Amino acid sequence: SQPQQITVLGATGSIGLSTLDVIARHPDRYQVFALSGFSRLQELEQLCRTHRPQFAVTPDEASAAALQRALRAADVPTEVLAGAQALCDVSAHPEVDAVMAAIVGAAGLQPTLAAVEAGKKVLLANKEALVMSGDLFIQAVRRSGAVLLPIDSEHNAIFQCLPGDYARGLGAVGVRRILLTASGGPFRETPLAELEQVSPEQACAHPNWSMGRKISVDSASMMNKGLELIEACWLFDARPSQVEVVIHPQSVIHSLVDYVDGSVLAQLGNPDMRTPIAHALAWPERIDSGVAPLDLFAVARLDFQRPDEQRFPCLRLARQAAEVGGSAPALLNAANEIAVAAFLERRIRFPEIARIIDEVLNLEAAVAVESLDAVLAADARARVLAGEWLNRHGR
Ligand code: NDP
Ligand code: MG
Repeated sequence: SQPQQITVLGATGSIGLSTLDVIARHPDRYQVFALSGFSRLQELEQLCRTHRPQFAVTPDEASAAALQRALRAADVPTEVLAGAQALCDVSAHPEVDAVMAAIVGAAGLQPTLAAVEAGKKVLLANKEALVMSGDLFIQAVRRSGAVLLPIDSEHNAIFQCLPGDYARGLGAVGVRRILLTASGGPFRETPLAELEQVSPEQACAHPNWSMGRKISVDSASMMNKGLELIEACWLFDARPSQVEVVIHPQSVIHSLVDYVDGSVLAQLGNPDMRTPIAHALAWPERIDSGVAPLDLFAVARLDFQRPDEQRFPCLRLARQAAEVGGSAPALLNAANEIAVAAFLERRIRFPEIARIIDEVLNLEAAVAVESLDAVLAADARARVLAGEWLNRHGR
């Protein structure tokens, strides 16, 4: 049969590169249809030379023209497009079979929704898109018949531990709870007072995973786990109270499902995103991902702890937003994006990330969201309020 045509949104990032690594191991199964990049355009050029996609997408006309010239000179047949609409076009294109949604943050929402609405197989790494738009996203999946497969290692693990008919409802298939594992990040045991002084470099030095800078900071604050809690509620139709966060510093168990009969199923593996990527690409089949077999004797032990919401207020804020619903998760996500960017630019201290989000959620009441415009309005409003916090504090 013909190789499947894959669009990789956010190809120059950590997930994008891991995806291309897996795809390149299976040239008979997969062909790269389109790649997108944003600031790392040298890398995008290199990726186009290697994978020879039909399309590449850059953020603006000037960068697209420069990349087009470079690719022509190198005899690469790729056509370069520019801008947000082009991201949607290469996601919804009739020749595309699957879209890897691996842009970071709210910027990925519209192209991911375009893939969903076109009924594609959607490999979802961009958790922020689902957190922001929640019910609208899931309704669009149902309407279009898109196949939504989680790339986030925890959600991919949960998906693997659930029965095929879990869409009947967690209760109906005998699930008691979902146990979402978290490494606890680099500051799991840092004395609380020292958190005021930690640097972006320390926050980005994750003990087990190598990831983009935004998700690395989210892991350090545990907002990543908060976003994942909201993500799990939408993916698996769970109530927030059915999702328990468990600190597991080794990152070998990627999450678990607890059934009413007392059985607890877990998925284990080395912490390497190529495993969930290969799982979702090939599902329901299995393919080689390049990841080494898990050596349980080297792992030796698996530890578990209860998360500390004093240390990690972002986790509490996210659980509250999940319970409030409506626009609350979109407000939380946008405030977090502004706060994390400010932290990475050394304009705020690490604990101020949670303070900014807390203030935004206190100032702006959540409303019901019935349209994409309502989601985008909440996102924009939270960015303004977070910006006002920065101004007021002279950052
Ligand atoms: P990276 O920062 O490594 O990559 C982000 C990608 O998005 C890059 O290709 C970047 O382009 C592109 N991008 C950034 N801003 C924009 C924008 N405004 N418009 C269009 N494209 C943009 O992040 P990760 O790969 O680590 O994460 C990607 C997503 O996957 C995130 O949502 C993250 O939460 C999720 N995820 C990541 C995991 C990981 O292990 N890394 C694990 C689980 C989930 P450029 O680099 O050219 O600027
Ligand atoms: Mg994860």
